[in-house]
Amino acid sequence: MEIFIVLGEFTFLLLICSFLVFSLYSLIEKEKRTFWRSTLFLVGLGVVNFGFRLAPSPLNAWLFGAVFGLFVIFLIFLFVPPLKKKPVEIVGKQEKVDERDVIFARFDLIEGTQNYMDYYGRKPENRKVDDEIRKIPDILATPHFEKSPALFSLAAAEFDFLEHQLTQVQGEVFPESVRSSPSDNTHLVKDIAKYLGADICGVSLLDQAYVYSHVGRGPEPFGQKIVLEHKYAVAFAVEMDLGMVASAPRAPVVVETGKKYVEAAKISIIVARFIRRLGYPARAHVAGSNYQAMLPPIAWMSGLGELGRIGILITERFGPRVRLGLVTTDLPLIPDVPKRLGVQEFCQRCQKCARNCPAQAIPDGDKSEESGVRKWVLNREECYRFWRKAGTDCAMCIYVCPYSKPDNSFHDFIRKMAERSSFAQSLSIRADDLFYGRSPRKKISPLGI
Ligand code: SF4
Ligand code: SF4
Repeated sequence: MEIFIVLGEFTFLLLICSFLVFSLYSLIEKEKRTFWRSTLFLVGLGVVNFGFRLAPSPLNAWLFGAVFGLFVIFLIFLFVPPLKKKPVEIVGKQEKVDERDVIFARFDLIEGTQNYMDYYGRKPENRKVDDEIRKIPDILATPHFEKSPALFSLAAAEFDFLEHQLTQVQGEVFPESVRSSPSDNTHLVKDIAKYLGADICGVSLLDQAYVYSHVGRGPEPFGQKIVLEHKYAVAFAVEMDLGMVASAPRAPVVVETGKKYVEAAKISIIVARFIRRLGYPARAHVAGSNYQAMLPPIAWMSGLGELGRIGILITERFGPRVRLGLVTTDLPLIPDVPKRLGVQEFCQRCQKCARNCPAQAIPDGDKSEESGVRKWVLNREECYRFWRKAGTDCAMCIYVCPYSKPDNSFHDFIRKMAERSSFAQSLSIRADDLFYGRSPRKKISPLGI
């Protein structure tokens, strides 16, 4: 009987320590609600433990034994059976996307211009909804601007800066070719991207299915056929500040987006210039926009993460709380392999982004097929309509996603557990709702709004 008491006491100690760590992390992360709830669990466990000690013998031994037994069952469920992780499902031929169909390109069109007439002549089905949305004031424009003139001016200044980077994406290739092995090149390029500010970086072969067919935005002529024959893609991500994202959908979010796009542009332009100096062709792809390829699927192929319900890339350390960057090149490199993080299964169980999307633009059901891929298809028009209503790029879905939690040992441990078993996934989804709220409250950003 004594052994039951020892094992039960050990289980209590382990649980109490876990909640103590959780409370401390919540305090550091300024998550008040989470702190109080985890502290309540901590106190509750202490009271139960004390009650068990007061129970007469042998009842106390049975009680402690039961706690230990339940804990062992819990651990078994946590690891067995291991999660069968599905890859992203490619179910048909992936056709190239025309950048002119991308929502931002459509809203760059000015009514009455030749490009406007050409586009809606070819795609009349998009005209009604686009013209309706055009009537809503633009992102960063008046009257949104008046809600927070300083922050909207700052975001506008960031996007102005980006506009000036759009012509910096390509240039002369130096004649001397510095020869190194593909393995050395890969290490060098990844290290340099990280040195310049990338948080994660990966490489893939450039799949032509993810190269846009025609120019829709930027300095190149509208409608020009895109020829991008580089062999490799170097994709990277920069983390967005959680404090800024937690103010979604207000002004700090768009300031943070602008800042991270500027960082991504700087990294991609310098890395592309560096590679050209080594004697190999390279092109940067910059937001604002001068992209010639689709970043989320290329980042997935490069091992940066998986595409989730939210429609964007979910990375291992920061979830969707990142902005992506890209360089394409002929410098010989070693491709990474796409990761399986269990995101497909997690998103199947969790609908937190769909539940909290103010535009109801994220599907809360099953995947459907689009361009040869089975995925959750975002209603891009409704999402963008809300952006114009808010005057920012919203980002509520990024904020509430459980994967967006800070990149620290505690949350990394939870993310690792969720990668291992179905039970751990269900448990972490419920725990996220219980401790952080089914609809987490927006917070004051470090900029005071
Ligand atoms: S950005 Fe906002 S509106 Fe768009 S899908 Fe996410 S939550 Fe919905
Ligand atoms: S909120 Fe949930 S369903 Fe949405 S992307 Fe994040 S994990 Fe997936």
